Amino acid sequence: MPFSDAVIKEAWKRSGGKCECTRGTHGHAGRCPNILVWEAKGNYTQPGSWDAYHSVPEASGGPDSIDNCEIMCSRCIRMTAAYKEMPVPEKDVDTPDDNFLKKPT
Ligand SMILES: [Zn+2]
Ligand SMILES: [Zn+2]
Repeated sequence: MPFSDAVIKEAWKRSGGKCECTRGTHGHAGRCPNILVWEAKGNYTQPGSWDAYHSVPEASGGPDSIDNCEIMCSRCIRMTAAYKEMPVPEKDVDTPDDNFLKKPT
């Protein structure tokens, strides 16, 4: 089952709008610093995109509870096993920083 809207909103509040991933294999020291955009949920071609991730996979009996709901940026989601079930974005534009670098002339 997917998370309910109430659980996702609660987890989003907890996250402070930042990726909650702390996996040591992703190249970020400690917690991932990526800043997320609420409106970009599930839209992996947008800057700040993210999704609600099951810390314990549903296949392993992970519940749809707030404790098992991790707010995770699309970059981190791509490095997880569950990603292969998700749509592949056409290009890599997933952090606000990428846009920041494209200064208007
Ligand atoms: Zn992340
Ligand atoms: Zn990560």
